[in-house]
Amino acid sequence: MIYLDYAATTPLDPQVRAAMLPWLETDAGFGNPASDHALGRRARKAVEAARAQVAALLGASAEEIIWTSGATESNNLAIKGALEFRGRANAHVISSRIEHKSVLDTLRYLETQGLRVTYLTPAASGVIEPEQVRAALRPDTALVSLMWVNNETGAINPVLELASELRARGVLVHIDAVQAAGKIAVDLAQLPADLLSVSAHKLYGPKGIGALFVRKRPRARLSPQIHGGGHEQGMRSGTLATHQIVGFGAACALAAAQLGEEGDRIRALRERLQRQLQSALPEVLLNAPAAADARAPGILNLSFTGVEGESLRAMLPELMVSSGSACSSATREPSYVLRALGRSDELAGASLRLSLGRYTTAGQVDAAATQIIAAVQFLRELSPQGSG
Ligand code: PMP
Repeated sequence: MIYLDYAATTPLDPQVRAAMLPWLETDAGFGNPASDHALGRRARKAVEAARAQVAALLGASAEEIIWTSGATESNNLAIKGALEFRGRANAHVISSRIEHKSVLDTLRYLETQGLRVTYLTPAASGVIEPEQVRAALRPDTALVSLMWVNNETGAINPVLELASELRARGVLVHIDAVQAAGKIAVDLAQLPADLLSVSAHKLYGPKGIGALFVRKRPRARLSPQIHGGGHEQGMRSGTLATHQIVGFGAACALAAAQLGEEGDRIRALRERLQRQLQSALPEVLLNAPAAADARAPGILNLSFTGVEGESLRAMLPELMVSSGSACSSATREPSYVLRALGRSDELAGASLRLSLGRYTTAGQVDAAATQIIAAVQFLRELSPQGSG
């Protein structure tokens, strides 16, 4: 089995697991971090240490990190919370057609309540250009919500160029940085976003824990979407999951320590995989910008002309890969992201998203390339309109 689906989720790093385990033990770690006794204080201290670790990876301060159950919740809280606080149910929002469903479906729901949304269409490379955002701005634009790195193509959006000018116009900026954090440099001291979503399970931490960065100065204000005991500065109630939070913190500390080095190694493997496939097979189209550093290191999305996508994946039982994102593959529709890039249904369907990560080896890449090349050649020979 070769796992090439790191963009869907990553395995827990053994060091993260080791950091989490004490907090699952009966005697030491079960206190409620909100309790005012020794056991509670011990858990609270661990939670706050983890908050500092997550903040450090993002170039934020600890008080700007709000724990959530994952980035789906972070995205919901950011968008619904910010618009509700501003009392702007019928305001205008700019986003894009290639956002994650947790952004798109939140916006669609808010549209039923009166929100107006402009969904930008990316260039064929998958990038949303700053000029498109500028052109879509209106006097009533309250929020721009864009992803930093697309989870299907790996394309990096030039969010740095935009955020400061949007903020200067009083427009809130929300960035979905799930596929950026721990993969490329994220520094909220340089990027003046108001809100930024991250998730632990994409960077070798546990599933079910995420965070929303909420800028302190100038203060981004949110209405809570989960009401209760007033945890997390009143923005997100609920007893904190100490072990998950500690794991998230440890994962961020590891990611920060090896960011550049790991990125270089993974990017080189991705280039090796792309080179092998494109030199052995004609008509393999890259669904992303051509420049290696315009994409997140670990994501390679290719369409293979002349093959049928489901048959291709069925011929690759050894490879854990996806077509489109895991989150929307239940629908079995060709990827809406690739269609937004202008790919035909056929080409969008005949795609593989190969995503590499911390434990990917050159041997795995070579074996995967061999299997994909054989499968594509076989299917192209079978198919009457097969090319190549
Ligand atoms: N945004 C992006 C870009 C993602 O890739 C994902 C996970 N597929 C999410 C949001 C949702 O994150 P979570 O799984 O933590 O809810």
